[in-house]
Amino acid sequence: MITKPDFNLKEFNTLGINARAKYCTQIENEEDLEILFNEGKIDEKTLVIGEASNILFNSDFDGLVLIITTRGINIYSETQKEIILDIKSGENWNNLVDYTVKNKYWGIENLSMIPGKVGAAPIQNIGAYGTELKDVFVSLEAFDTQTGKIEKFTKEECEFDYRDSIFKSKYKGRYIILSIKLKLSKTPKPNISYKALKDYFRENDEKTLSIENIQQAVNEVRSSKLPDPKEIKNSGSFFKNPIIDNTKAKELKRKYPDIPLYKVGNDSTKVAAGWLIEKAGWKGKRFGDAGVHKKQALVLVNYGNASGEEILQLSQKIATDILNKFGIKLEREVWVI
Ligand SMILES: Cc1cc2nc3c(=O)[nH]c(=O)nc-3n(C[C@H](O)[C@H](O)[C@H](O)COP(=O)(O)OP(=O)(O)OC[C@H]3O[C@@H](n4cnc5c(N)ncnc54)[C@H](O)[C@@H]3O)c2cc1C
Repeated sequence: MITKPDFNLKEFNTLGINARAKYCTQIENEEDLEILFNEGKIDEKTLVIGEASNILFNSDFDGLVLIITTRGINIYSETQKEIILDIKSGENWNNLVDYTVKNKYWGIENLSMIPGKVGAAPIQNIGAYGTELKDVFVSLEAFDTQTGKIEKFTKEECEFDYRDSIFKSKYKGRYIILSIKLKLSKTPKPNISYKALKDYFRENDEKTLSIENIQQAVNEVRSSKLPDPKEIKNSGSFFKNPIIDNTKAKELKRKYPDIPLYKVGNDSTKVAAGWLIEKAGWKGKRFGDAGVHKKQALVLVNYGNASGEEILQLSQKIATDILNKFGIKLEREVWVI
């Protein structure tokens, strides 16, 4: 295990922000954490990152950054119909999806192409195209930075919600996720309830609902809408889709008949944040190297040398404008460090 001082994080965050960490250590196995803890180097202020695809570095980080690189996809148990996989946190999420598609284990094919590592997936209960991590999640193991002990969390204990879990609230920063268990189906469970997928299979009616075709559909739809961080630096959706009460939703629908709204339970409605930002005229706007993506208004981009502060300021201007124009408060999906 090597600890590097004054570490440049530019190549280690998908927004390409030129931030530095006071120290940075790559964690290759769980014993590394124990050693650092016993040396008094780990506490709740330590920052754990996977691929930093959901982080905006607003300034340098005055502490220790841990990059998790532990590897392993193992079969924990299986029956004729189901399989439980035990996956280490440092595995790349999309490699895991590829592995499950190759082996025809159904459940996470709709989460194809989400950047990042496995250990970050429970933090915001990653979701896309009608599937969320919680739909297949069994449990996780995590290192407690307060006690140095490893603890297990069941699905219920993780308190998953839309882009949310207990690790973003009560236990923010406290636990380092080491591994997760997912229960996948060996029998086909196609989920094309999401409109873009339904439309894809209607237009490509020769394609069967095989797991490979669903993954391909997700990949094609995603690529047509979202910029690849390898080409344009970004952190995916910058804001969450706001959830409003039904009365407010009806009022908006009267004023803007084309507004995309999705029912959430009986009393609430989800609004597409990207639509609000586009409608307010921000799509494609650029201020120096900080901008709003040309095709997807929910994505803020760094065209080269934007600072974290410039991206943050742009996001604040957008949020204020949306509040003034629509009376809706936008909440960030991205972590600001
Ligand atoms: C182009 C693009 C598209 C995206 N699309 C989606 C999408 O469709 N759906 C979606 O849900 N998200 C999406 N995201 C967001 C992002 O991919 C996910 O949030 C992903 O899970 C982040 O993984 P990461 O390894 O990069 O985590 P990081 O960004 O490194 O970390 C995110 C948070 O998790 C914490 N963390 C990371 N690893 C651990 C660990 N092992 N233990 C404890 N805490 C940890 C970090 O401290 C931080 O608070 C997208 C991002 C991009 C750039």
